[in-house]
Amino acid sequence: MIKYKLICKDCNFLFDSWFASSKEYEKLKKKKYIDCHHCGSKSIEKTLMSPSVLKSNKESKVEMKDERYKDIRKKINEYQKFIEKNFEFVGENFAYEARSIHYKNKKKSKGIYGLASKEELSELKEEGIETEIIPWLKNNSN
Ligand SMILES: [Zn+2]
Repeated sequence: MIKYKLICKDCNFLFDSWFASSKEYEKLKKKKYIDCHHCGSKSIEKTLMSPSVLKSNKESKVEMKDERYKDIRKKINEYQKFIEKNFEFVGENFAYEARSIHYKNKKKSKGIYGLASKEELSELKEEGIETEIIPWLKNNSN
């Protein structure tokens, strides 16, 4: 079974549908057996499935049960370990600390990492402070 997120091109209604296979989906679509759950239109398109994107200011659930994500998960884990080892965690004070370094030339032996909201990040960017957003996994299994 395969789950597709479908979108109605007429009313932009999003809904999930299960199919036996991708072939079955194509077949049903061709025969116009798939219709919008909202307005009944047959103009249905499959949306691209993408992994959940981690919000920068709080940990959100990243669905990584899929086999395909195992490698990515491993890479993120390695990256995470590297950062934990080489950077100083400043938590919610990230924007403040980043500014301190930028404006007061505050010396830090290590780089910093922490939590910041989207707004804070765009403010920092406007001020010419470069930041990088990295995905962060909550359950670091190894
Ligand atoms: Zn519709």
